[in-house]
Amino acid sequence: MISFYPGPSRVYDEVPGYVKDAHRKGLLSMNHRSEEFMDLYKKTTRYLHEKLHIPSNYHIFFTSSATECWEIIAQSLVEKQSIHIFNGSFGEKWFDYTKRLQKETHAVPFDREKALLAREHLYETGDLICLTQNETSNGTQVHCRSIADIKSANPDHLVAVDATSSMGGIALDFKAADVWFASVQKCFGLPAGLAILICSPRAMDRIEKIGEQSHYNSLTLLKKMEVLHQTSYTPNVLCIYLLMRVLRDARQIEKTEKKIIKRQEQWMDFLSGAKRLQPLIANQNVQSHTVIPMVADAEHLLAVKKAARKNGFLLGEGYGPLKGTSIRIANFPALKSNEIRELKKVLSAFR
Ligand SMILES: *Cc1c(COP(=O)(O)O)cnc(C)c1O
Repeated sequence: MISFYPGPSRVYDEVPGYVKDAHRKGLLSMNHRSEEFMDLYKKTTRYLHEKLHIPSNYHIFFTSSATECWEIIAQSLVEKQSIHIFNGSFGEKWFDYTKRLQKETHAVPFDREKALLAREHLYETGDLICLTQNETSNGTQVHCRSIADIKSANPDHLVAVDATSSMGGIALDFKAADVWFASVQKCFGLPAGLAILICSPRAMDRIEKIGEQSHYNSLTLLKKMEVLHQTSYTPNVLCIYLLMRVLRDARQIEKTEKKIIKRQEQWMDFLSGAKRLQPLIANQNVQSHTVIPMVADAEHLLAVKKAARKNGFLLGEGYGPLKGTSIRIANFPALKSNEIRELKKVLSAFR
């Protein structure tokens, strides 16, 4: 079964070989305080900087999931109040998780067909602005240009960005925000259980200023351990190794992005002129490049999913309020051209 689910999704074919290598090299029982682990930590973050063009003065931390990053940010980076700008379920969940940690939160929902304009997002209160760069539930994205504009319009706030379903697939302008995070089971083509959290120098200063250390994953502790190229707990060493191997072989992100954008345009061409299957998002300017949601009536979608499954393809269910009325197809780098071609053949009968 080839998984077109927008996470967890298809892993790279090389992954089983990398796991074997990890076993052979003793990584599966590697001590996370050893010299070898510190080398692995250094190598992996170096490849992340090099291949994704993360500025050299931004720091990289390893965590277990994007959900964990939501909590870490709420715990360690919010002084008084966080502002959550969202148009879908993941952005709203981030808001809910933060609220549950008894932080002051402010929700700013927006229309999923509309691009964000900085002049409509000037904040008098709050100290951290939360944005979802790629909203996996409805297949929309906020371009880095808009994120940068919102940041410069609110110079006293930190800007934190959930890029879980786009990092590793499209080229992100990391300077446009202070905090970025993603887990690896989406565009990195790896099994779940690892996430990366990236902090700008300003975010590092905020960690220091707040000094929160009530939790095992408090950024104050992660920051202390990062200096030693270690984590504050036993991390997913295998997954860090797999990430290192995937990145070592990876092309520069611009090359990958080119492929992803071309494929997204081809999906839109495939749907243009279709009678029954339509893109959920009409505004091209906000369509995600990595997650492609389609709408049709519920019965038709059931038939589509069934036919896909019979031919060996798993499609993504709709998410949250869009569950019954949409399907989602991942456009992640690990998916192969011939697999997309075969899936389109199956879907052709349902257009
Ligand atoms: C998948 C996803 C998450 C949750 O990721 P986990 O690694 O399962 O915690 C959060 N945000 C977005 C935008 C996602 O796509």
